[in-house]
Amino acid sequence: MKIIVAVKRVVDFNVKVRVKSDQSGVELANVKMSMNPFCEIAVEEAVRLKEKGIATEIVAVSIGPAQAQETIRTAMAMGADRGILVQTDDTVEPLAVSKILHNIVEAEQPQLVILGKQSIDGDNNQTGQMLAALLGWGQGTFASKVEKDGEALKVTREIDGGLETVSLKLPAVVTTDLRLNEPRYAALPNIMKAKQKPLETKTPADYGVDTAPRVVTLKVTEPAKREAGIKVKDIDELVEKLKNEAKVI
Ligand code: AMP
Repeated sequence: MKIIVAVKRVVDFNVKVRVKSDQSGVELANVKMSMNPFCEIAVEEAVRLKEKGIATEIVAVSIGPAQAQETIRTAMAMGADRGILVQTDDTVEPLAVSKILHNIVEAEQPQLVILGKQSIDGDNNQTGQMLAALLGWGQGTFASKVEKDGEALKVTREIDGGLETVSLKLPAVVTTDLRLNEPRYAALPNIMKAKQKPLETKTPADYGVDTAPRVVTLKVTEPAKREAGIKVKDIDELVEKLKNEAKVI
C-alpha cells in the first residue's frame, strides 16, 4: 500500500503569535516555523503502518515556500521515503491545496492519503474533507485509531460525546486527531539519511491549479485579555461574589 501524507509548515505551536499592527494577519518575520502537529501525527501513523508491513511506500507532500522543504525533510527523517514540494509563496487556501493533492493522487495512485485534521494556523479543518470529495473516496476524519481490516480500513473517530468506528473501502482519506499516536523524534542518523532521500519540486501551475484566494481576511485581532484572579478569604465571600459580582449563581 502506498501512502501519501500531507505536511504543512506552520508557526511552531510553542510560539506566542502576535497580530500585525495593520490587523492583516499574524507576524511571520523571524518566527520559528515547524511541521503542523496534526501532520506529525499523520506521518507517524504512516510510518507505523509501514513498520507493520501494511504500507510499502510513504510520500510526503507539502505546498508552500521553498523552506517547506525542511518540513518534508523532517517527514523523511521520521520515515517517509520521498517527498514532493509544490512551491509557492502565495497563501494557498484549503480548496487549492485539495485540488493540488487531487492531482498528485491521480499521478501517484496511493491507497491511502493521511492528513492532519486541522492546520493550527488557519484552523480550517477542510482540506481532507474536500480532497475526499474531489476524489469520490471514503473519509475517516478525526481518527484516534486506524486498523487494517481485511481489504478495508477500520477507523475510530473522535466525535462529540464519544467514539464512532467506520469501515472505509480503500482507497480512502484519513485525517488525524490528537490521540491517534505520539509522534517520534527523528534520530540524528535518520536526519542525515533524510538529506539523501528524493525530493521533487513542482509548482501549482504544473498541476493547472489556480491558487488565487477565494476568501478575503477582513481583520485579525488578539483575543480579549484575561483579567487576573483574586483570592477570597472564605466560602461565604466566594458565594457572595459568584452571586452578586459574577452573577453566575
Ligand atoms: P486545514 O484544512 O488547513 O485545517 O488542514 C488540514 C490538513 O490538510 C493539514 O493538517 C495538512 O495535512 C493538510 N494541508 C493543509 N494545507 C497544506 C499545505 N499547504 N501543504 C500540505 N498539506 C496541507
